[in-house]
Amino acid sequence: MLAWYDANKRTLPWRDDPSPYHVWLSEIMLQQTRVEAVREYYARFLAALPTVEALAAADEDVYLKLWEGLGYYSRVRNLHKAAGQIMTECGGEMPRTAAELRKLAGIGPYTAAAIASICYDERTPAVDGNLLRVFARMTGYAENIKADPAKRAAEVYYMDIFPAERCGDMNQALMDLGATVCLPNGQPLCDQCPWATYCAAHAGERETDYPVAAAKPQRRVEQRTVFLIYYGQRIALRKRPDKGLLAGLYEFPNASGRLTREEALSYVESLGFSAVRIRPLDPAKHIFTHREWHMTGYEVLADEWEEFRDGKPRDHELFLAPAADLAETYSIPSAFAAYQAAIRTDYLG
Ligand code: SF4
Repeated sequence: MLAWYDANKRTLPWRDDPSPYHVWLSEIMLQQTRVEAVREYYARFLAALPTVEALAAADEDVYLKLWEGLGYYSRVRNLHKAAGQIMTECGGEMPRTAAELRKLAGIGPYTAAAIASICYDERTPAVDGNLLRVFARMTGYAENIKADPAKRAAEVYYMDIFPAERCGDMNQALMDLGATVCLPNGQPLCDQCPWATYCAAHAGERETDYPVAAAKPQRRVEQRTVFLIYYGQRIALRKRPDKGLLAGLYEFPNASGRLTREEALSYVESLGFSAVRIRPLDPAKHIFTHREWHMTGYEVLADEWEEFRDGKPRDHELFLAPAADLAETYSIPSAFAAYQAAIRTDYLG
């Protein structure tokens, strides 16, 4: 496997200089995102925040903006929190063992094992989806691969066969094998696999029967109506609550349900806007892990905004943003990408 890795390893930016910070950042970015998409984000993030110290000192809006489009924002919040822990509790040095790394925010068993093995050659398998799939096919593992026992069984399997040295390379070899040869969907490329002789699934020509996975739970479908409200050459934005879905990010005002034009007008009025024009926008869909948003939208031109009622703001989190701030300051999650793309810049100053 190591010989195969030496000849076939992927060229990845974080492999050029595998400092603990670089490996950590790349592994967190890669958790829910394809390698190709991560490259650009990784370079941009490091250019802005080149050290753990810089990340720990960064403002929320700065690191959220650098993450914009990657989704799963709790990942970057935890990165920032863990950077603070490293500066205050670890003397500015990242811990060197998987057990210590796991005490940091957002670092689970997989990420801890990846950092400790790649940076410090700790003999510990980093069991992610790739290593699970290779394990399931190599051994003909017939239980649900998503369940905890599968992970433990994979760890035991790999601990048995891991070398005494180059454990970081071994983990990366298996990650690369899973990504480029023992492919997740469809037929793996067994004729290129250095372990083909020992593989149970390959011997029985049952490669695509593994891994066995239980059916995914159904996602909940939610209808939402999104509003692009223009007033005084600015557009209405709202900060989401600090907890829950898309916490602390910025959004266009939106309401639950698929609102008719009349309902949409009364919603806009409830925010204090007087609409001079309202026009429907195309529907859009966004898929989260456990839910789907099926959205429709309206573009609204307003000629008045009564921000306050009885001396109090109608909506404490609502404000108006000019076009420049929209691009540079506020992180709008990709759930709203279709509506962000529909913004009429000619309406903005
Ligand atoms: S022989 Fe095929 S199925 Fe088995 S581990 Fe290699 S690529 Fe995967």
